[in-house]
Amino acid sequence: MKLSQLGEFGLIDLLAKGLDKPSARVVVGIGDDAAALRISNFQFPISNKIPSSKIQNKKLLLITTDTLVENVHFRLKNTSFFYLGYKALAINISDIAAMGGDPTFALVTIGANKNLPVSKIEELYRGIKNLARKYKIDIVGGDTVASPRELIVSITLLGEVAENNLLLRSNAKVGDAILVTGSFGKPAADEFRIPSSEFRIRLKEAQSIAKSGLATAMIDSSDGLVRSILEICKASKVGARIWLDSIPVAEDATLEQALYGGEEYELVFTVQRSKAVELKTLIEKRTGTKVSIVGEIVSQKNAIKLVDVHGVTHALKSGGYEHFR
Ligand code: ADP
Ligand code: MG
Repeated sequence: MKLSQLGEFGLIDLLAKGLDKPSARVVVGIGDDAAALRISNFQFPISNKIPSSKIQNKKLLLITTDTLVENVHFRLKNTSFFYLGYKALAINISDIAAMGGDPTFALVTIGANKNLPVSKIEELYRGIKNLARKYKIDIVGGDTVASPRELIVSITLLGEVAENNLLLRSNAKVGDAILVTGSFGKPAADEFRIPSSEFRIRLKEAQSIAKSGLATAMIDSSDGLVRSILEICKASKVGARIWLDSIPVAEDATLEQALYGGEEYELVFTVQRSKAVELKTLIEKRTGTKVSIVGEIVSQKNAIKLVDVHGVTHALKSGGYEHFR
């Protein structure tokens, strides 16, 4: 069978099923925005002399990786090297944020054609450093290799999260409301021409959501709004009703682009319905970012449906980007 028949998600499932059972140190393995790991005596602050048994809220190590490939994720004629570096780190920060965590250390891997001017890679690194500085991330290593053709940028990012603040995709409950930050559809409406200044990273929003203790599940919306809700439903074994008239559609974007567009790094999260307005108000007040209630979690047998203003349900399109397809 070819990869194109299996698709990215089919391949990941196949590979994951073929692995040995993870050890007890793996709190969250394959299947979420980042892995969450227990390592001995991992605590914060480092100088803290309190014995580990006395620490109320122990930290977990978070780790995630994401790769950008020329002519798959970007075309050089449409993007700057600065922005490319910036984005390569940003998408990883978004994954750490979606776990409720704080980014800490990064490894940067570059595969480049030998004829590429050095100044271009320096420019790429300026983009990475710009963001690393802003979020106090140390670049602690990486790998540099030749690529026969296309440019590849891959970043592995570590982070940490207090165990109590960890938010997974897999804990949404029937009766929860579905909330989102910001708006959707702008990158699709802009034909993914990526204006660097508008790349928002929802780190403080994610941390406020995690610290509130109210949210039940969270994901970042990298592959589109519908796909993100689908991933929460798959992991939590639930269904969803998405209220079409409540979707925050970005200016100039269509509803279709908002639902399926992707390439925006908003947060999609769930909370018990009776707490939804409280959480929305809290996050809006703390961060100034708009939060919308866009649907509800129902039982798995009800599947995932789009509901219009008249209460009529519409089938989902299989939305979002999938590699190899
Ligand atoms: P995201 O869109 O949040 O970056 P992905 O869709 O890339 O997540 O990956 C989904 C899950 O599958 C993640 O937990 C990721 O770590 C895991 N994963 C992806 N590729 C592989 C692989 N080749 N081997 C093992 N796990 C993988
Ligand atoms: Mg993610």
